[in-house]
Amino acid sequence: MSLRNKTVIVTGSTSGIGLGIARGFAEAHANVVINGFGEAEDIAAEVASLETLGEGRISYDAADMSNPDQIAAMVDHTENEFGSVDIVVNNAGVQLVEPVESFPLDKWDQIIAINMNAAFHSTRAALPGMKARGWGRIINISSAHGLVASPFKSAYVTAKHGITGFTKTVALEAAEFGVTVNAICPGYVLTPLVEKQIPETAAARGITEEEVKRDVLLAAQWTKKFVTVEQLAGTALFLCSDAAENITGVSLPVDGGWTAA
Ligand code: NAD
Repeated sequence: MSLRNKTVIVTGSTSGIGLGIARGFAEAHANVVINGFGEAEDIAAEVASLETLGEGRISYDAADMSNPDQIAAMVDHTENEFGSVDIVVNNAGVQLVEPVESFPLDKWDQIIAINMNAAFHSTRAALPGMKARGWGRIINISSAHGLVASPFKSAYVTAKHGITGFTKTVALEAAEFGVTVNAICPGYVLTPLVEKQIPETAAARGITEEEVKRDVLLAAQWTKKFVTVEQLAGTALFLCSDAAENITGVSLPVDGGWTAA
């Protein structure tokens, strides 16, 4: 698939799922703006690596997804540098697992800001250009937790359910302008964030790392397989294809059957 001359912003793409999606878009020859935190030299290496994958241009924007002004400025800079923002992948996200009674107030605000409000701010900034050009794709990386809950993840589940409603609403507003708005709802993905928890959980529960994967992390994932970043990149690219022109407002599970049960 070629996305030559299309420009995509992937938020939170210095790691994990966002990085995998940025790679997929770079391979499809899109111009890719990556974003997220990290060491300057690691980010420079990532930009250089993405540049080898396709024929689009790659750049980095350091916008903090909890800051509405920086999000709007990122869209503005990208439009000035590349001429358009055709695709936005709202991927940046953070998590905290804590009972609701002791959930820290600042963490609640931070998770709602990054996991939910950021998608509003980027959409608000990028949608006018998409509508004017008659083509656009907004892809929100939600979660199985955008469709079902788990205990001790109140802020995360609230934000991801909010994304489900936001996705539907903007899909209706944008429908006649060639712009689709969808969410992808992954199950567990073995990103560095999740990998780090495996030895810790094995030690805490006195079980093997294999048992942690099968009986804890993949307990709800009926395929007993982790979702891969390549599968999520493929799903995002599909949503940008002509075949997906009439798919809008959906929250698409990529979760090994988790939310079917
Ligand atoms: P990750 O921790 O590997 O990557 C998160 C990225 O977001 C990093 O690049 C980080 O720098 C960036 N980020 C964090 N705060 C930011 C901020 N304020 N401004 C800009 N960038 C910021 O996480 P991941 O597992 O790749 O998760 C990515 C998305 O996928 C999240 O929205 C997450 O909720 C969702 N998700 C992950 C899983 C999973 O199992 N890993 C499952 C379902 C959904």
